[in-house]
Amino acid sequence: MTMAERRLDYVWYGGRPSIDFVNTRRYRFEAGGSELLREPADLGRWLEAAGLVPDRAVVDEALLARALELREAIDLALVAVVEGEPLSPEPVAAINAWLASAAQYPPRLDLDEGVPVYRANAAPADAFGALCRIAVDAAEMLGSELRTRLRICGGVNCSARFIDNSAARRRRWCSMAGCGNRAKASQFRQTAAAKARTGG
Ligand SMILES: [Zn+2]
Repeated sequence: MTMAERRLDYVWYGGRPSIDFVNTRRYRFEAGGSELLREPADLGRWLEAAGLVPDRAVVDEALLARALELREAIDLALVAVVEGEPLSPEPVAAINAWLASAAQYPPRLDLDEGVPVYRANAAPADAFGALCRIAVDAAEMLGSELRTRLRICGGVNCSARFIDNSAARRRRWCSMAGCGNRAKASQFRQTAAAKARTGG
């Protein structure tokens, strides 16, 4: 897969920045999946596309390695929650290391021409700051009742992660345009085949 093709494979249906980040390794149902963040520049490009940094972020090999460690820790936690399994301490420690970094940038009250304005996160607008925000997002999600809405797409050959924000809490697919439609089409074919068999 070329760099341009990897970029086109970005998906944004996670519903939270930390889940979109997890989905930068796609098709996790197969060993290894499809890695979109192979080089430091890939992460810089993705952070920009995700709107987490104002423009192309500078990333080196060390930061990419730490970012992937954070991403896989979030995914381990997400999968454990979805499957109702106890979560091991290692991914929690990995996320906590990022939260400790995020704590260097406390929220603040700014003054905008005499009007107080709350800034939730004063982390720098670079790749490191963006990863701090992703860790906070993941912790808020995993560590609260929001975790009950975490899902893994039911589509064949998908395994994308998302959060179900629908009112009825019955979202099954990463996207209706993708896996949702494929499932409907397959159900339609099965019904038609059954009707043909029974002559109905
Ligand atoms: Zn899907």
